[in-house]
Amino acid sequence: MEQRKMICISCPLGCSLEVNILDDDIEIKGNKCKRGEQYGLNEIKDPKRIVTSTIRVLNGKKSLASVKTDKEISKMKMFDIINVINTIQVDAPVKVGDVLIKNIFETGVNIVATSNNDRLS
Ligand code: SF4
Repeated sequence: MEQRKMICISCPLGCSLEVNILDDDIEIKGNKCKRGEQYGLNEIKDPKRIVTSTIRVLNGKKSLASVKTDKEISKMKMFDIINVINTIQVDAPVKVGDVLIKNIFETGVNIVATSNNDRLS
Protein backbone atom coordinates (compact mmCIF):
# COMPACT_ATOMS: atom_id res chain seq x y z
CA MET A 1 0.00 0.00 0.00
CA GLU A 2 1.25 3.48 -0.87
CA GLN A 3 0.54 6.34 1.53
CA ARG A 4 0.69 10.04 0.62
CA LYS A 5 0.13 13.13 2.70
CA MET A 6 -1.19 16.34 1.22
CA ILE A 7 -2.95 19.56 2.18
CA CYS A 8 -6.38 20.20 0.73
CA ILE A 9 -6.28 23.64 -0.90
CA SER A 10 -10.00 23.77 -1.71
CA CYS A 11 -10.68 26.21 1.14
CA PRO A 12 -8.67 28.24 3.69
CA LEU A 13 -8.96 25.53 6.38
CA GLY A 14 -6.25 23.51 4.64
CA CYS A 15 -7.04 20.08 6.08
CA SER A 16 -4.17 17.59 6.20
CA LEU A 17 -5.16 14.61 4.11
CA GLU A 18 -3.79 11.12 4.30
CA VAL A 19 -4.28 9.17 1.09
CA ASN A 20 -3.91 5.41 1.06
CA ILE A 21 -3.59 3.78 -2.35
CA LEU A 22 -3.92 0.05 -2.87
CA ASP A 23 -4.23 -0.92 -6.54
CA ASP A 24 -7.44 0.81 -7.72
CA ASP A 25 -8.63 1.51 -4.18
CA ILE A 26 -8.08 5.04 -2.91
CA GLU A 27 -8.97 5.91 0.69
CA ILE A 28 -8.94 9.53 1.88
CA LYS A 29 -8.70 10.44 5.57
CA GLY A 30 -8.50 13.78 7.36
CA ASN A 31 -10.96 15.70 5.16
CA LYS A 32 -13.63 17.68 6.95
CA CYS A 33 -15.95 17.69 3.93
CA LYS A 34 -16.68 16.01 0.58
CA ARG A 35 -14.63 18.56 -1.34
CA GLY A 36 -11.53 17.30 0.43
CA GLU A 37 -12.26 13.75 -0.65
CA GLN A 38 -12.67 14.92 -4.24
CA TYR A 39 -9.48 16.98 -4.00
CA GLY A 40 -7.52 13.93 -2.78
CA LEU A 41 -8.93 11.73 -5.53
CA ASN A 42 -8.15 14.34 -8.20
CA GLU A 43 -4.60 14.76 -6.90
CA ILE A 44 -4.00 11.05 -7.39
CA LYS A 45 -5.88 10.51 -10.65
CA ASP A 46 -5.57 13.80 -12.55
CA PRO A 47 -4.15 16.77 -10.62
CA LYS A 48 -5.38 20.14 -11.84
CA ARG A 49 -4.10 23.68 -11.42
CA ILE A 50 -4.75 27.25 -12.54
CA VAL A 51 -2.01 28.19 -15.03
CA THR A 52 -0.60 31.73 -14.90
CA SER A 53 1.73 33.30 -17.45
CA THR A 54 2.24 36.37 -19.61
CA ILE A 55 1.32 36.97 -23.24
CA ARG A 56 2.96 39.28 -25.77
CA VAL A 57 1.02 42.43 -26.65
CA LEU A 58 1.42 44.38 -29.90
CA ASN A 59 0.92 48.17 -29.92
CA GLY A 60 0.54 48.30 -26.15
CA LYS A 61 2.09 50.64 -23.60
CA LYS A 62 3.76 47.50 -22.22
CA SER A 63 5.03 44.54 -24.18
CA LEU A 64 3.26 41.94 -22.03
CA ALA A 65 0.01 41.29 -20.21
CA SER A 66 -0.46 38.74 -17.44
CA VAL A 67 -2.90 35.92 -18.10
CA LYS A 68 -4.36 32.87 -16.41
CA THR A 69 -6.68 29.99 -17.15
CA ASP A 70 -10.24 30.75 -16.04
CA LYS A 71 -10.55 27.23 -14.58
CA GLU A 72 -8.19 24.61 -13.26
CA ILE A 73 -6.66 22.45 -15.96
CA SER A 74 -4.95 19.07 -15.93
CA LYS A 75 -1.28 19.40 -14.97
CA MET A 76 -0.52 17.12 -17.93
CA LYS A 77 -1.61 19.92 -20.29
CA MET A 78 0.23 22.75 -18.54
CA PHE A 79 3.34 22.79 -20.72
CA ASP A 80 1.33 22.57 -23.96
CA ILE A 81 -0.77 25.51 -22.81
CA ILE A 82 2.27 27.58 -21.85
CA ASN A 83 3.81 26.82 -25.26
CA VAL A 84 0.69 28.16 -27.00
CA ILE A 85 0.63 31.28 -24.80
CA ASN A 86 4.31 31.88 -25.59
CA THR A 87 3.74 31.76 -29.36
CA ILE A 88 0.72 34.08 -29.51
CA GLN A 89 0.61 37.88 -29.73
CA VAL A 90 -2.52 39.90 -29.07
CA ASP A 91 -3.28 43.45 -30.12
CA ALA A 92 -3.72 46.17 -27.49
CA PRO A 93 -5.78 47.27 -25.70
CA VAL A 94 -6.07 44.39 -23.26
CA LYS A 95 -8.44 44.66 -20.29
CA VAL A 96 -8.66 42.48 -17.19
CA GLY A 97 -11.08 39.65 -17.92
CA ASP A 98 -10.67 39.73 -21.73
CA VAL A 99 -10.74 36.22 -23.18
CA LEU A 100 -7.52 36.09 -25.20
CA ILE A 101 -7.62 32.40 -26.14
CA LYS A 102 -11.01 30.69 -26.14
CA ASN A 103 -11.50 27.00 -25.32
CA ILE A 104 -7.82 26.10 -25.48
CA PHE A 105 -7.31 22.54 -26.77
CA GLU A 106 -11.10 22.19 -26.63
CA THR A 107 -10.91 21.82 -22.85
CA GLY A 108 -13.63 24.38 -22.16
CA VAL A 109 -10.97 26.52 -20.48
CA ASN A 110 -10.21 30.07 -21.63
CA ILE A 111 -7.04 32.11 -21.23
CA VAL A 112 -8.05 35.45 -19.73
CA ALA A 113 -6.15 38.68 -19.09
CA THR A 114 -5.32 39.54 -15.47
CA SER A 115 -3.76 42.92 -16.21
CA ASN A 116 -4.58 45.94 -18.35
CA ASN A 117 -2.45 47.10 -21.25
CA ASP A 118 -3.60 50.27 -22.98
CA ARG A 119 -2.96 50.96 -26.64
CA LEU A 120 -0.15 53.31 -27.55
CA SER A 121 -1.66 56.56 -28.75
S1 SF4 B 1 -11.50 19.07 3.33
FE1 SF4 B 1 -13.14 20.56 3.17
S2 SF4 B 1 -12.92 21.81 5.00
FE2 SF4 B 1 -10.96 20.73 4.71
S3 SF4 B 1 -9.67 22.15 3.48
FE3 SF4 B 1 -10.72 20.76 2.04
S4 SF4 B 1 -12.56 21.89 1.46
FE4 SF4 B 1 -11.79 22.85 3.31
